[in-house]
This record gives sequence, structure tokens and C-alpha cells, in this order.
Amino acid sequence: MNQNLYLSQEQIQLQMDYIDKLSALTQGFERSHGRPMAAYVETYGCQQNENDSERICGMLHKAGFELIEERKAADLILFNTCAVRENAELKVFGNVGALKHWKNENPERILILCGCMMQQEHIAEQIRQKYKQVDLVFGTHALYRFPELLFRILSERSRVFELGGGDVIAEDLPIVRKAGLQAWVSIMYGCNNFCSYCVVPYVRGRERSRRPEKILEEVRSLAGHGTKEITLLGQNVNSYGSGSDFEENFAQLLTAVCRIDGIERVRFMTSHPKDISDELIEVMAREKKVCKMLHLPVQAGNNRILQAMNRKYTVEEYLAKMEKARREMPHLALSTDIIVGFPGETDEEFEDTLKLLRRVQFDNVYSFLYSKREGTAASKLPDPNSHEVKQKRFERLLEVQNEIALELNQAYEGKIYDVLVEGVSKTNPDCMTGRTDTNKIVNFPGNESMVGRFIPVRITKAHTWSLNGEIWRIEHANE
Ligand code: SF4
Repeated sequence: MNQNLYLSQEQIQLQMDYIDKLSALTQGFERSHGRPMAAYVETYGCQQNENDSERICGMLHKAGFELIEERKAADLILFNTCAVRENAELKVFGNVGALKHWKNENPERILILCGCMMQQEHIAEQIRQKYKQVDLVFGTHALYRFPELLFRILSERSRVFELGGGDVIAEDLPIVRKAGLQAWVSIMYGCNNFCSYCVVPYVRGRERSRRPEKILEEVRSLAGHGTKEITLLGQNVNSYGSGSDFEENFAQLLTAVCRIDGIERVRFMTSHPKDISDELIEVMAREKKVCKMLHLPVQAGNNRILQAMNRKYTVEEYLAKMEKARREMPHLALSTDIIVGFPGETDEEFEDTLKLLRRVQFDNVYSFLYSKREGTAASKLPDPNSHEVKQKRFERLLEVQNEIALELNQAYEGKIYDVLVEGVSKTNPDCMTGRTDTNKIVNFPGNESMVGRFIPVRITKAHTWSLNGEIWRIEHANE
């Protein structure tokens, strides 16, 4: 085990000292401008990135920045980027290009890029050469050093590119969370799996787990501030603890989180099918607080493709794990990820994926067109299929899945579920929206006083992506 994995108190304190130095600068700005320095943070990609952005916002807030929602009104703009798909990368380049004028108008403004995309040298080089409006670039390994890097930008006014740093765990950084009711808690970082299409192990480093006591301390503190639902995050939560100097595995950590008073629901993501254990399935079935939903990315329904993807399981092994989970939890909701159009995928191999969807009956499928990522093993494979062929397959898969999802949702009609109310529906101000423990979105007439409470709701109408319902009162039972 790498002894330098966990940053020392002194290393964290150094960054806190930089936050103090930044505070002095932002106070000076406020005095001369009559308003606080405003920062805008935009996040691409997964929940792990969202959680990183919460820490970035925490550091900015502590340093005296006002966090705002309007990009153009900001004195500092930061994009926390994602490298998993090309589309997200193109969007970042588009946004950065469009901000040239914003920067030229006032060179004192600061433009920052960080996250997975920046951990790739060829991207950082492109930014260095072609996007001179960018002041600071740093990768995922340097996240905890953000205060120090930002201080350099503000005090020296020169460009800084920081792509170095190793695999570390930094605890006790400030954080500003987006929502109070639900919270994401990262339990580990990085990935060791090297699926052939995926860039994550290259940009997030090797697997490393936070110590259980630090995770539990964070969850306890969240519970004390009114959080009811926790999602434990990691690229592969099932291998939590492996290679560490402590004994706890993921099933044990999950059990310990469930014991914390005030936490009512616990979710987790993402799981790798090869690592999901019987012990974990038993804990899921036993612990009432663990939501009865399992997201288990299968990626393809054909063994040759799975092997080419370096997924290290077969369709048969995947099905056996799903069946075991369903035996233990008959009402378990299932979701998965599918990559359509992996290099060399034939029509027959794609049909195997559809067969798998029909057989498993997933409640939700997150499907993606294969996106070639520089540096991965799959990027070197011949890819004879045209974009049109892949697009047609993608649409077909959506059609099949939408039918399955609607049918599964229709089985909810007439039944009563506890819904944790998240807020007012975006489309109807008289409706509240929340989720069942199987992660189904439920909309029903109600009022804001219900936010944060569990409300029994009878499902009246199923749609492909959500359910409609009405509040169920005890007196209804006698009608
Ligand atoms: S398990 Fe595979 S797909 Fe998931 S992050 Fe690791 S390499 Fe990428």
C-alpha cells in the first residue's frame, strides 16, 4: 500500500492557509468594487465530478467568492470537465471558445478548466496553444491544490498548467453541497479495471479507498444537517477496501452507514458485475434503508464483445448474479449501461444485447453510442460500421427499452409507495415530485411543506419515465 496515499494534516493545512490568502484578495476586491468576487462553476459528466465540484465550490466559498448561477456575470468561470465521451469534450471547447470575448473585455477575469479531460496531456496542450483565454488548467490529481493554484493566478497573473500529482486522498476540504435532502459521498476514487473503451483509469488513477471512519463521520455530519438520503459513490464500489490497510469491505461499510440515525435511504453506484458479492446482495436484502435498486452496467449482451471490452465476465455470469439478486429481493429495480456500436459489433451481436434487455427486463437503461477515446485499447480496433448503422441500432434499442420500461411501470399502478418528496415539479407548480426506493420518479398533487418527508402515494398512471399518483390517506383504505 502506498503510504503517501492519505494526505497529512500539514498538507491540508497548507491549502487552508492559501484559502486565507485568497480571502484577503477577495476582500480587497470587494472593497474596491463594492461587491464580492463572483464565481460560476459548471460541471460535466458523472456524480463523481459533481461531488468534486461541490468541493471546488466549498473552497471558493471559504475564500470569499460568491457562487452565482449566471455565467456572464462572473469574475471567475470554472469548467469541471469529463473525458468519457467526445460530445462532452466538444461542448467544453465550444464554451471556452465562446468566452474569448468575455476575457478580452476584462483581462482580470479568470477562466479555469479542470477535471478528467484536463488530465490528458494532448488536451492540455491544445488548450495551451489555441485557447489563450484560459488562465488555469489542472487535472483530477491536483484538485486539493486548487487554493494554491488559484492564489498563483491571482497574485502572479500568469498562466498555470498543473497536470502532475499522484493518486492521493484528501480529507476535510471545505464543501458546499447542492441539495440538503440527498447527498453524494465519495467512498473511493480511481479504477483498476481498464475496460478497453474507457479513459477513466488513465485520468483518475488507480483505485484507492477512503478510510471508513472518515466516510462515517461525513455521513453522520450530513444526517445532523438534515440529509436523509445518501448515495455512496465510486467507479467500482464493490471493490471498496481492496489494497487498503483496513479490513472493511463494501458490504460492511454499507451496513455501518445504515446504522446512522437520521439517514433513511442509502443508494450506491457504480458496481462492476465481476465484483458484486453474495454478501453485498444479502446486505441489500436485509437492510431496510438500502434502496431496492441495483445499477449494474452490463455494456453488451454478447460474450465476444464483452471480451473485447475487457469486462471480465460473461453474459451467463451476469445473468446468474442478476437472478440471485432478484431471488433475494423480488421487487428489486434494475438498471444498466449499454454501449451501442462498439468497434466491430455485428448485427447478430447487437441482437444479443436486445435479447438480454428482454430477458432481464431492466427498469432503466442508460445507452450510449460508442465514443472513441484516445489512448484506450479499443481506439486501435478496426471499426467498419458507419455512424448511420450505429445510430439505427441505438434507436432500436431505445424503442425496445421504452416498451419494457412502460410495462414495468404499469405494474406500479394501483399500488401505494412511500415517496421521499424532493421538491416542486418542474412542469407543474401544483405538483410535488419525489422518488420511490426503487428510484421511480413520482409526481402528485401536494404542497411544499411535504419536501423532505416520506408521503404514501397511490400510483394512478404509469409513463415510460415517471409515475403519477395521489396522496394515500389511511381513510382511503376503508373506502
Ligand atoms: S470499471 Fe471499466 S468502465 Fe468503469 S470506470 Fe473502470 S475502466 Fe471505466
